[in-house]
Amino acid sequence: MSAAAPSTVTFESRFATELAEMAIPWKAEEVPDPRLLVLNEPLAAELGFDPEFLRSPEGLPLLIGNEVPDGATPVAQAYSGHQFGGFSPRLGDGRALLLGEIADVGGRLRDIHLKGSGRTPFARGGDGFAVVGPMLREYVVSEAMHALGIPTTRSLAVVATARSVQRETELPGAVLTRIASSHLRVGSFQYARVAGDIELLRRLADHAIARHYPDAAEADNPYLALFEAVISAQASLVAKWMLVGFIHGVMNTDNMAISGETIDYGPCAFMDAFDPATVYSSIDENGRYAYANQPVVAEWNLTRLAEALLPLFDDDEERAVALAQESLGAFRRQYSAAWLAGMKAKLGLDSSIADDVASPLIDELLGLLQEGRVDYTSFFRRLGTAARGQGEPIRTIFPEPDAFLAWAERWRALNPDADMMDRVNPAYVPRNHLVEEALDAATNGDLGPLRLLLEAVTDPYNERPGVERYAEAAPETFGPYRTFCGT
Ligand code: AMP
Ligand code: MG
Repeated sequence: MSAAAPSTVTFESRFATELAEMAIPWKAEEVPDPRLLVLNEPLAAELGFDPEFLRSPEGLPLLIGNEVPDGATPVAQAYSGHQFGGFSPRLGDGRALLLGEIADVGGRLRDIHLKGSGRTPFARGGDGFAVVGPMLREYVVSEAMHALGIPTTRSLAVVATARSVQRETELPGAVLTRIASSHLRVGSFQYARVAGDIELLRRLADHAIARHYPDAAEADNPYLALFEAVISAQASLVAKWMLVGFIHGVMNTDNMAISGETIDYGPCAFMDAFDPATVYSSIDENGRYAYANQPVVAEWNLTRLAEALLPLFDDDEERAVALAQESLGAFRRQYSAAWLAGMKAKLGLDSSIADDVASPLIDELLGLLQEGRVDYTSFFRRLGTAARGQGEPIRTIFPEPDAFLAWAERWRALNPDADMMDRVNPAYVPRNHLVEEALDAATNGDLGPLRLLLEAVTDPYNERPGVERYAEAAPETFGPYRTFCGT
């Protein structure tokens, strides 16, 4: 495949034109001295861009919205959202813009979006900017998620703006160029619903169906089919998060995508020691978005989506509520099935092994991991070694291994498949201490550690020499860890 010249990439403005009530045409802030920090070359090629062009002085302004391509109408998108349970009718892109949509080389429509591009009419008290550390954090974590096989928005580039942005201290500013299959959120539907405009709500739902779930259009009740498709996508997504130990950190309804992609990497983190109550976000004081709460919150958010869609389900409200409730019931079943199948795979167990054999074994193991505060990622990877008959590396993880050894004997009797385990248990995830190290260095001008980290986490299942330290648990001296949001 030869990379196309920029002029052959055609921008569309479907959201801006089809949903004009939810789009405010706006311009990105001029950046006089942009400097490319990181460019995702494989993704650029997938989108049909020539990476060399994007790196050039002519291409760089495109990445930050300072050059608006033909056909593009940059807009700030309107949406509402429940933030930590409280409803805000008017959030929207306060510091972000949708540049437009493009068809990638596979013909899929992708959003090109900017984060940190200046204040918009939705900025409220915010300055509209973003800083280097958190934008690189989104880049690393989203690309790691993609490599792990988890649906996610992608990161095309981070560009430093040479502007200093006031946070707790002055920090270097940056713009992230984000790629998504769309930026439709649960909060987008809440916005259309509170606007009280059923025709707008229907147009938004039709737009979502066309873009993400075209089969729903053929169903008897297309809007209920749309809702059910979102339920399935979220059940599958959140199960994947749980299996890999990912904590989103700020699962507000404005941060839940209709596509089923992970979106909005703020205070997210991968769990180090296994503990269901783990919370890293500094603003999540009550643990609403703790690791173990994520499926419950996803279901809560989907209930908010149902409320927004009700008038489309049926003209009779009682009937609409009954339909919504029936559909919502599928979430738990689908989530549990996906999680259990994934856990069996993590343990190398054949899918034919009965649930009432596998489930108690899994529950007991998770109890042992919690008691021993065992590092989640390296445990499962090392368990693969144990499945190959080398028990020593895993035994030393537990200070008092007797209970674990008894568990392992029962597990080994089920003939775990070590190769299968290595395909689903990553060796490398963006561990908190490594992310901090890389972002600190990058904020001080050294991109070396970031490049090494990216190299490790974008090929997570292939354990290899040279990157050993990226597979190891955080040193005892690291922590307690805190992440920060919206910076
Ligand atoms: P988030 O926590 O990133 O999902 O953002 C929640 C809301 O706050 C969205 O409406 C954002 O656009 C807005 N927001 C976050 N940071 C800023 C900022 N620095 N300036 C303006 N708006 C912001
Ligand atoms: Mg958000």
